[in-house]
Amino acid sequence: MAQRIYWVPHTICFFGCEHCHNDSVMEGIQASRQIIEQVIARLPGPESRYRLDEVLVGGGESLMRNAHMEFLIRTFRERFPRGPEKSIAERRAAGHVILALQTMGFPLADPKGNPVAHHIDYWLNLGIDYFQVASNDMFHERQRPDYPWEALRENLRTYEATHGVEFLVYGKAAARLVPSGRALDHLPALEKEGASLLTEEGYCATAWEAASNFLSGTGKQGLETSEVVIDPYGWVHPCCWYELSPGLFDLNVADFETGMEAMRSKSLCQVLDEGNMVRLAEISGVDPEMARQVRDVVGDCGVCRLCSARLAQQPEHAWIKAAPLSNREVAFYTSHLGALVLSDLFQQTIPVAGRHLTVE
Ligand code: SF4
Repeated sequence: MAQRIYWVPHTICFFGCEHCHNDSVMEGIQASRQIIEQVIARLPGPESRYRLDEVLVGGGESLMRNAHMEFLIRTFRERFPRGPEKSIAERRAAGHVILALQTMGFPLADPKGNPVAHHIDYWLNLGIDYFQVASNDMFHERQRPDYPWEALRENLRTYEATHGVEFLVYGKAAARLVPSGRALDHLPALEKEGASLLTEEGYCATAWEAASNFLSGTGKQGLETSEVVIDPYGWVHPCCWYELSPGLFDLNVADFETGMEAMRSKSLCQVLDEGNMVRLAEISGVDPEMARQVRDVVGDCGVCRLCSARLAQQPEHAWIKAAPLSNREVAFYTSHLGALVLSDLFQQTIPVAGRHLTVE
């Protein structure tokens, strides 16, 4: 099975987007060099049934200098050398692991949106294959409405055509906010600008960035492909919203193949692989009808977060990583669901960071 990994080694960024799902700031979380070495050492090798195809390193802003990013890329390329072939397609076909960086694009260009060759070459020479530019949306443009975003995108396309450097440009759809990070605070303001919480039924079962098929690997890109996410602490999650989905195993203590194999026998992981949040709720002991009502308000990812916090309280599921709700989350879910529904979901004792909240 082709294995794709989205790795978030830090949440350091200077941009401050209101929708940021992992609260990235300049004082953000940063994986230590030891965690980076452990993660790279425990990724699947060429002999594994999980054939490592591509690793995308995100953040925060992945092009933040000195955020251990250079160390990460050098250490990664010591284990997975970049192929000598000219194109990414040829390197991929030759079985080399593709390494990409996810950026706003901003750090690759000047104030007029012109790509700066030595900024781009700096990362290419370190060992990356291409860039994913994830800022083509209202959220990044709201942060810097004065910046020539369209010129940047146009110039990156021209640079790609001229220099053969790949830039995959995309952005976040306005109606796909998930209930985490700064979106918890700024949703009302963003809704006035046309954004909204992602509540479409079947989201987790169908979206490429969601959990579905992370174990079975069926259906994505037509290939047998699995995609998982590694958080800044080295834990593996089934989808890119690692603040909401449960951490399944820790690469500081288990290698990737062993961890994934162990997940195959877990009913919790089987329903995540289906992307079925009503079944996840059932496993956590929540009534399916209540789960559907909650999903209609806060989406699959909201149900997933609430049920994961509940599951982590249960001895038989204590192996997952799911933090108690933060005060900010309690305020968000109370305003969207009402205190009674939230209390019912947790049988009157809501696990909140550092305490238990009892709602009479
Ligand atoms: S429902 Fe859970 S597992 Fe699925 S995409 Fe949302 S956070 Fe991830």
